[in-house]
Amino acid sequence: ATSSDDLVGFGQRHVTAGIGRLTEAVMSKGEGSYLSFEDGRRMLDFSCGIGVTNLGHCHPKVSKAAAEQCTSLVHGQCSIAFNLPYLRLIEKLLPIMPDRSLDSFYFWNSGSEAVEASLKMARSITGRQNIICMQGGYHGRTYGAMAVTKSKTVYSEGFFPLMPGVFSSPFPFWHQSGLPPNTSEEELVRLSLYQLELVLKQQSAPKDTAAILIEPVLGEGGYVPAPPTFLQGIRKICDEHGILLIIDEVQSGFGRTGKLFNVEYSGVRPDIMTMAKGLANGFPLSAVVSRKDLTDRLKPGSMGGTYAGNPVSCAAAVAVAEAFEEEKVLDNVSARSHELLTSLHSLRNDPVVGPSIVDVRGTGLMVAVEFASPSYPLGDPALNPSVPKGIAARVARRCMDKGLLILTTSIYEVIRFIPPLNITQPDLEKGCDIFAAAVKDVIR
Ligand code: PMP
Repeated sequence: ATSSDDLVGFGQRHVTAGIGRLTEAVMSKGEGSYLSFEDGRRMLDFSCGIGVTNLGHCHPKVSKAAAEQCTSLVHGQCSIAFNLPYLRLIEKLLPIMPDRSLDSFYFWNSGSEAVEASLKMARSITGRQNIICMQGGYHGRTYGAMAVTKSKTVYSEGFFPLMPGVFSSPFPFWHQSGLPPNTSEEELVRLSLYQLELVLKQQSAPKDTAAILIEPVLGEGGYVPAPPTFLQGIRKICDEHGILLIIDEVQSGFGRTGKLFNVEYSGVRPDIMTMAKGLANGFPLSAVVSRKDLTDRLKPGSMGGTYAGNPVSCAAAVAVAEAFEEEKVLDNVSARSHELLTSLHSLRNDPVVGPSIVDVRGTGLMVAVEFASPSYPLGDPALNPSVPKGIAARVARRCMDKGLLILTTSIYEVIRFIPPLNITQPDLEKGCDIFAAAVKDVIR
């Protein structure tokens, strides 16, 4: 197969149908904020491979560190010995953890594996079985991670029975509360914490509950930041009952929301925190951090994996951490976030398309626009003006036609903005202009 069409056809015949694809194309090259395809298209990438290439594709410092590591040690099996980049990475991560107590690391390859590990750790450390997760949460596709994923049925459909001992409680999101979109944050938090207390009284007693697991920003569930008071309320409940708090920062971590970790906004201390995606800017690497006093209760040999903590990925992650500092990435996030939100709010105020936009939300460069939909529940006319069905996917497709790669998320009509954290001002503006034009094309 040589032509782009031939390659796509080959892929369609030989790649499992279980993988859904946004576009039938073949990626050929990634350079900074741009991604090129075999069919000749070049797109501004506001997807970052689902929030991974935070420093852009093939960041020179990261690629160089990985290439150099390839000449000294490629495989450094963690159950045989430590490896150097692995230890250097811990040295880099220790001072930037959202709480000083987080001093014990465990590396894996993917976010799902990190979540799996966190569930095993919570059960083993507490001697309790049950996990409470959040409605709308996403944690991965392996069996344990799938059991705590509650964002879309497609992730579990046909795969039952799931891991037992999992209960879910509402995340403060108006869609899931049955309340109108203008319901106050305070009210949503109060109701969600009340429901969590009910779960602990009616379904999973505290003495059976090992952990409460939450994404500080619902990712695949709709890009909904948890109000700090909600996370603080959960922390209080965990403290009262000796339940561990697992914070999943796989998508929200490493500067994505404007702080290195989203929990910094609430000051909440995780007992266990999972990380991946931006950690190594595209090299497969995830991490679970906890406290030594907790992880010392794990039996040697109970954790680990052949590729866990690969030296090439760890060397890349060290370079990521250094580039973050050197390039003042968080300052760029703050400036670009302001521009992005200003642009989206001005679209919301547009007399023609504005009424079809129900919400603009998020912080840093983890931002969402939600459209109205004729299929939304509640029959609230403000939510259902005469907009086309499936509007978010249509806007995303229109953006791609115009050279902007952008993703939808959740069962609602949501477009997510996750551009590279080091994106330039002109590129951000270009993306915003394409998006506005696409919205106008679809709604008009
Ligand atoms: N947790 C969160 C919050 C995620 O967003 C994801 C991936 N979208 C995962 C876990 C799973 O990570 P992976 O796809 O690397 O297994």
